[in-house]
Amino acid sequence: MVDIGLMLLWAAITGGTPLVILVIPLARSRISDRVTHLMLGLSAGILLGISLFDILPESLDLVRGNPQGSRLVAIGTAAGFLGLLLVERTLLTRGGSQAHFEEGREIRPFGTLAMSALAVHGFVDGFVIPLGFEAGAAVGLVITLAIALHQIPDSFAGASVSIASLRSRRIVLGFVLATAIDTPIGIGVGSLFVTASAAWLPIGLAFCAGTFLFVSAADLIPELQHRARSLLVTASIFGGFVIVAALTLLLPA
Ligand SMILES: [Zn+2]
Repeated sequence: MVDIGLMLLWAAITGGTPLVILVIPLARSRISDRVTHLMLGLSAGILLGISLFDILPESLDLVRGNPQGSRLVAIGTAAGFLGLLLVERTLLTRGGSQAHFEEGREIRPFGTLAMSALAVHGFVDGFVIPLGFEAGAAVGLVITLAIALHQIPDSFAGASVSIASLRSRRIVLGFVLATAIDTPIGIGVGSLFVTASAAWLPIGLAFCAGTFLFVSAADLIPELQHRARSLLVTASIFGGFVIVAALTLLLPA
């Protein structure tokens, strides 16, 4: 059963975070690259952590007893990973990408992750929350706390990326509002999903893990390794991972 009150609470929290954050980058026009990189590193580690520590083990637990179970989880994970690859590829082709040149070098403001891809990812951020709680109260809480925590870097990055690459404040504001609303929408759709069919829960969870692995390993980490070759940024990736591991181990199974 979906706890509607709880879902509304998390919808308010995850939808509100980007709006609060909005004040800071807009006020300062652009936050420093260094801070953005550190926070995105934390985000990459958190997404990796909840996929490997929470979501995938949970979906494997759910299919225990089904002889095809582990294969279904593998298919769900691959569908999430490859699906997001296709989404980003389509968006990039259609959007012409936001690349511009500086000193003859191509600069892409967080390239593939920028804009619309970030909005699609934000939807999955919300979608996974009711699925997590349906799998179990403890795992649901870890997933939700981790998602809420990583929404801060998400919003910072989204706002500063869009400010860096878009000239009009109106478009930036529209984009930030879109990234604020997509997570609550994801929570709503996820609630309908778990209400409609319990059988699809492990595959839905695996799908989310697949998209998180993609964002972490294919979007964030390569971009950070390429642009911010500092030990501190690498440490922030480990830091995010350790935070999730600690949350998972501290909360009762
Ligand atoms: Zn996110």
